Amino acid sequence: MDSARALSDVKPTSFWLEDPGRPEALPALVGDTTCDLLVVGGGYSGLWTALLAKERDPSQDVVLVEADEVGWAASGRNGGFCAASLTHGFGNGLQRWPAELNRLEELGRANLDAIEDAVKKYDLDCEWERTGEIDVATEPHQLDELHEVAEALAEHGLATTVLDADQVRREVDSPTFLGGLWDRDGVAMVHPAKLAWGLKKACLRQGVRIHERTKALTLVEHGTGMAVRTPYGRVFARRVALGTNVFPSLLKRVRPYIVPVYDYALMTEPLNDEQMAAVGWRGRQGLGDSANQFHYFRLSADNRILWGGYDAIYHYGGKVRAEHDQRPDTFRTLSRQFFETFPQLEGVRFTHAWGGAIDTCSRFSAFFDTAHHGRVAYAAGFTGLGVGATRFGAEVMLDLLSGERTERTELEMVRKKPLPFPPEPVRWAGIELTRWSLDRADRRGGRRNLWLRTLDRLGLGFDS
Ligand SMILES: Cc1cc2nc3c(=O)[nH]c(=O)nc-3n(C[C@H](O)[C@H](O)[C@H](O)COP(=O)(O)OP(=O)(O)OC[C@H]3O[C@@H](n4cnc5c(N)ncnc54)[C@H](O)[C@@H]3O)c2cc1C
Repeated sequence: MDSARALSDVKPTSFWLEDPGRPEALPALVGDTTCDLLVVGGGYSGLWTALLAKERDPSQDVVLVEADEVGWAASGRNGGFCAASLTHGFGNGLQRWPAELNRLEELGRANLDAIEDAVKKYDLDCEWERTGEIDVATEPHQLDELHEVAEALAEHGLATTVLDADQVRREVDSPTFLGGLWDRDGVAMVHPAKLAWGLKKACLRQGVRIHERTKALTLVEHGTGMAVRTPYGRVFARRVALGTNVFPSLLKRVRPYIVPVYDYALMTEPLNDEQMAAVGWRGRQGLGDSANQFHYFRLSADNRILWGGYDAIYHYGGKVRAEHDQRPDTFRTLSRQFFETFPQLEGVRFTHAWGGAIDTCSRFSAFFDTAHHGRVAYAAGFTGLGVGATRFGAEVMLDLLSGERTERTELEMVRKKPLPFPPEPVRWAGIELTRWSLDRADRRGGRRNLWLRTLDRLGLGFDS
């Protein structure tokens, strides 16, 4: 069977969101209400903010409004790699915040541990597996880079295991793997939609009032607090936290910092015992390859393989649109690359193919601030690594709204913002040139051209 035929029966939807456990949407807000804290957005950012606000002060009245359904967007369609890194990986953190990277790494590990604790405490049924991740090299120059990263990690007291080709293939077998770097503890695999739904349930149990199909339309000052208009009502809140990710922020000034970048994934049918034996993968780690245009892949609880990444697509004008969620060209590319990686799985079929928008900012890791005299806080720009980091972002938003200086609010990463993207058409041209250059670098032994080197010097970039 050729790789295109393996796609002939795919459903154009996120495998994770199709789960029979998907909860019913809660009723929209009708009429006016007041609260201490209004959270806008029902992805991980908003859900963690609401839950942690209740943990900090159970007597607070917390309302969460979600434009569609809890978890329908990035939180319900991602790869489910829940990483400790708050900086879109160690390398990006080292480049941008070398002086505070040790602390950021510690805070990130503590954040991942806290998520694991919450999974137990609230009985979040999200298929949590702290398996770690192996980054594999598929080109000789990537092997050198993995060794360099391992050394830099060791200098910062972070233990990883370098694997040669035989060792990595004993973990997960592919003829394309030349070596790997195994972080055994810093990443967990989750069922992303179940994590969002579990958090929703936990919020409700703690007394958060959630309204779905309730888009926040406007945000204005009102007395000593804020007023938010929704299609059928209004919320008067003392404080507001915005967890709206890639969607147009209610604060216009935040918009130039984020561009929607579409990322795509395929899910196979469940592998049978023979197919599982042919790939090994007894450690069930998450895997990523090390090119600029990288793949991420992992097993689901029922032994399907999720295979995603590679293309990162920006559409001129930067709109989030449902029609961008499907991209047959990308699915064909992903399918071909899947069978190049796992030729022993010839005959396996894909059952689901989907995409989603990533809130890319020019430094690849979240930024934070307040507005309206400290009554509103936001966190955005997690780029492709927000499953874990959004919980940290929620803590930062709550710190900022409390007006207190904390270890988190004093971080340079929290105090400083990335450079905004230029307006169109320069934005589109710049992103396309960057994508072209990254692809070229992947094909030329990792060598970065003048454009990429200039961006590196300016601390700018484009990633998923
Ligand atoms: C295909 C894909 C794969 C990914 N893989 C990974 C991965 O493996 N690991 C990883 O760490 N990260 C990954 N990510 C990124 C990760 O999914 C996100 O960083 C994370 O889900 C962001 O959570 P969030 O709550 O900020 O955003 P979202 O989940 O997008 O939630 C934002 C919510 O706000 C709502 N909203 C927006 N505006 C309003 C409004 N005005 N009123 C009311 N509600 C509003 C939206 O409807 C939405 O539900 C991936 C993303 C994609 C798309």
